[in-house]
Amino acid sequence: MADLTRTKKIALEEHFMEPDFIDYFNTTSINISPALFGKALDVLQDFGERRLESMDSIGIEKSVLSLAGPGVQAEKMTDVAVRRARQVNDFLAEKMAEKPDRYGGFAHLAMQDPVAAADELERCVRDLGMSGAMINGQTNATYLDDDRYSPFWERAEDLGAPIYIHPNNPPEQVHMYSGHPELFGPVWSWTVETATHALRLVFSGTFDRFPKAKLILGHMGETIPFLLWRFDSRWDISNRGDMTLEMPPSEYFRRNVWYTTSGVCADEPLRCSIDAAGLDRVLFAVDYPFEKPIEAGEWIEGASIDDEERAAVCHENARGVLLL
Ligand code: MN
Repeated sequence: MADLTRTKKIALEEHFMEPDFIDYFNTTSINISPALFGKALDVLQDFGERRLESMDSIGIEKSVLSLAGPGVQAEKMTDVAVRRARQVNDFLAEKMAEKPDRYGGFAHLAMQDPVAAADELERCVRDLGMSGAMINGQTNATYLDDDRYSPFWERAEDLGAPIYIHPNNPPEQVHMYSGHPELFGPVWSWTVETATHALRLVFSGTFDRFPKAKLILGHMGETIPFLLWRFDSRWDISNRGDMTLEMPPSEYFRRNVWYTTSGVCADEPLRCSIDAAGLDRVLFAVDYPFEKPIEAGEWIEGASIDDEERAAVCHENARGVLLL
């Protein structure tokens, strides 16, 4: 077997669980098989040998940790969401402080209150040493292109903090998935939901207003790199009223967006992402524990890219987007 530790790695979508947040995590149990869900819950709560050994087995020097599930974004009471976001960030900061060389973190934010979320993002990156934030899709049917999030984007841009949009379910039942529970979740609906979220941000002009804002998408960009040419060509002839953008849509996806390999271990979409979005845009991630580190490590070490590209994806590009 190839040496899976040959290329140093920083991994960007590596999840954990705090015991008080299991109820929120359980809201996603409809999307995942019960066998995987139960096993994951146990692994998610380990910050010791088990997690470190799995990192060491494929040369992951540092894992940027993030809470699994929607967390406080599923909380109905805004004040509770704000308070508990701080709680879980303090918990994560303790784990990072115990192993600062091995664990980084993404802030968890109560997006019900955009200004409180901006304040907490600032606290997390300034005081707790976090690398940015992970946001789990829509919150109360509101997406990040909504005007109410302008103060949030302004702060994120000022801080240089990347915002990683992680999949979540849509706010309502969608008829096109009826009779197909297998399509509702990671097989397909999360891709549609998350890619649409990113497209809302680009087409709303959010990145014209906040040109230095940084967005990260997992799962090899949720199919977006594959479609850049078509976005430009169809935007030109779309029924868009008085909407304007300063650049063709694809340019925002090359300027403001980064893409991780989380949960995708296949050469074709990797090649497409590097070629379409740029070599500096693609970063390694496992999606631990929902994907196996060994599988991700075997794949990236043997992927049909050259060693310069492999080093960029595995660790060098992280410095260009994360606050590390
Ligand atoms: Mn994930």
